[in-house]
Amino acid sequence: MERCIVALAAASLLGCATPVTEGPEVSIDARNEEIRRQQEYVLGVRSAEDERFYRVAHRISSANVELCRRRGMSIGATFETIYDYAAQMRSAAKAVRGVSASPQVAWLDEKGPAGAAGLRRGDVLLAVNGTPVAKGPKAGKSARGLLAAALHGSQRLTILRNGETINLDIAGKQVCGYPFYLVDGSDLNASADGDVVRYYRGMLRFAQSDDEIALVLGHELAHNVMRHIQKSQINRVAGAIGGALLDAALGGDGDLAEIGASIGDAAFSQAFEPRPTM
Ligand SMILES: [Zn+2]
Repeated sequence: MERCIVALAAASLLGCATPVTEGPEVSIDARNEEIRRQQEYVLGVRSAEDERFYRVAHRISSANVELCRRRGMSIGATFETIYDYAAQMRSAAKAVRGVSASPQVAWLDEKGPAGAAGLRRGDVLLAVNGTPVAKGPKAGKSARGLLAAALHGSQRLTILRNGETINLDIAGKQVCGYPFYLVDGSDLNASADGDVVRYYRGMLRFAQSDDEIALVLGHELAHNVMRHIQKSQINRVAGAIGGALLDAALGGDGDLAEIGASIGDAAFSQAFEPRPTM
């Protein structure tokens, strides 16, 4: 009673006045099981998002290469190992993505050079042009280094698939040299900074179709290609599914701010937004 009066005096009314409901006892094992389930769920969702985004991005990057003054090379595939994941996520990565210490296909555009040459998901990379990939924690870095070094010529990938060793000859192709990045965040937003395009996961979850993603990526890529950002700082599209869609929905005045899209404090240049004639 004495303590309760003191607590009341300290204005902690709730603590004394209401009964406390005890939660159920949760064992460490049950808690760990729940953590594992949630990690696997999150990784599964993110993997599907990555796959969708980078497939669309690669196609936009390939299809517009003639218009891009800055160019790079790509085989339309990336590789990963279990060491690419934080220590606490490795068990989930093994379960969801089947990754191991050896580099295996992380993402693949079936219509890209590697896909067309026969590379498949789950393929493990053993060597590039006869040079074996390093073993252990450095395998991923080693694989990416060998692939990058061979990117400008043709490259023979030695692949392990279902216990069989296969050689695939792949010629990288030119793509736009303005990388696309899928970034964490619930914003319905994408941006171009003159060098790269950033696209938020929130925007990806909002997109109904791959075409909508492509439209926004193409729009942002155009800002980079046409050097709008160098001409006027940073350009940002906020609001629904992207500048071009919004501009069209607005009847062509190109003023995204009109519909209350939150532009934030980024310098936003409407002068560079498209003005459809309709
Ligand atoms: Zn724009």
